[in-house]
This record gives sequence, structure tokens and C-alpha cells, in this order.
Amino acid sequence: MGAPYYCISDHIHYNEDDEYFPETLNLAKGLIAKSIDKPLFLASEITFADSEGNLPLHPRSKKYLSYTLIGAHYIPGTSINMEDTHQGKSTLYQWLEEDYEKLSQLFEIVESMYTKGIAKNSPDILVHPFSTILRCDFAHVELLSVFEKICEICQETRTAIEINRSEIRRFIEFPNPVSIEHPDVPPLRDFYHKLISIMAKYDILISLGSDAHNLNDVGDIGPCVDMINTYHISPDRILNLKKKGTICFSEVVDQQA
Ligand SMILES: [Zn+2]
Repeated sequence: MGAPYYCISDHIHYNEDDEYFPETLNLAKGLIAKSIDKPLFLASEITFADSEGNLPLHPRSKKYLSYTLIGAHYIPGTSINMEDTHQGKSTLYQWLEEDYEKLSQLFEIVESMYTKGIAKNSPDILVHPFSTILRCDFAHVELLSVFEKICEICQETRTAIEINRSEIRRFIEFPNPVSIEHPDVPPLRDFYHKLISIMAKYDILISLGSDAHNLNDVGDIGPCVDMINTYHISPDRILNLKKKGTICFSEVVDQQA
């Protein structure tokens, strides 16, 4: 496995999710007690809680986090979420065909949530941009201009943007077949390539993540590396937490021991 270090992160979607943080903490401490072979970083993946880009409260976890990942897992003020992409898809397609007002409100929320949220919180990493909407098979071109604005802010805040192994599986390797013919909704694969090509243009770091949810997937970032090669993104632009000087959780725990 070529990765230089391990990272563990759980989600914080709502205020109450912070209550589960001790479980992550115990897991991390358990791994360190077993003498894992690489440094271990601890993070939380925090969801934008409203259209102003505010985050759920996370007082328990905050002091332990090596770094923060921020992303969207639902679109505040709408019914679009990652839990029910089937319903989300039919809602979005209906708005596209019958209620453009609703759709433009959605894009306004998305733009505001991402741009304000990143500017306010300066996260280390923005995870899987637009995944909530893309998982509903809704790769609307309007999101590409929103993404340009997101990249501008990430450039200012030095926020890396993630290329996530699961996203490549979902949108490049095994995308759902196109189920709508509409000039504003290109195939997922084309859209995802466009996102990466936009990232390539800006002076932003790229975070490569295996997004492993089981042991076999840990460190599987090969397809992410292929993607940055395809777009001639310099390896210097790959986020390296050690080089960045991020405090490593395993070192802190060692010192406490
Ligand atoms: Zn996520």
C-alpha cells in the first residue's frame, strides 16, 4: 500500500452526530495501541447545515481533529438528500421540466452553501463536490459555473478539493445509464470529467481519497492518480498533510502515553 499515512473520518451531519465521536476516538486509539505502521490522522467529515454554509456543532470532536473535511450530504431547505436519491431524482427531473423557479432556487442554495461555507470555515478539504445531486443522476450544466466559483474560493482559502475513489466508480466506471434527454443534463461521465478539468485550471491542492468503507479499499487511490495524470495535474498539487504540518493524531496520543 503506497499511501504515506492513514486517515479516519466519520460524518457529522447534524448536531447530535458529535455524540458518537467517542467511538471514533476509541477506534483510533485501539489502532495506535496495536502499533499501526503509519501515522494516523483523525478527521470529521462535516456537512453544511444550512444555505449560509454554517456547520453542525461539534464541541466533543473539535479538539481531537487533525483537520476538517467539509461537504454536502443533503441540500438544506429542499428534499434532496443522499438517503433517498430515487426520490431526489424524480423531484429534480420534475423541476427541470415543469418548475424552473424551483430549480434555480436549488442552484442558488447550492452556490451560497458551498461558497459561504468554504469562505467561513476554511476547511482543509472539500469532499465530493455536488455528490448529493450527481447521485440523483442530475449532472446539470449550471453546476459547472457554480464549481468555477467554488474553485476560486478554495484557491483563496487554500482548501484542497477531493478526488474520491468511490466517486470515480460511481460516475466514471459504472454510471447509471442516461435516463433523461435534455441539453442541460449531460451524461454523468462527461460532467465528472469536466469537473476535474475545471479543478486542473485553478491553483488548488487535490486530495486523493480512497473513501474506504471496508479494509480492502484502504489505500486504493490508483484511479484517482490516473485521473490527475489524465488532466496533467502536477503531483506537487496532491495534498500531503505531513508536508502541510498538520498535527498527526497518533503523535499526540504517543506523547500523552
Ligand atoms: Zn461524504
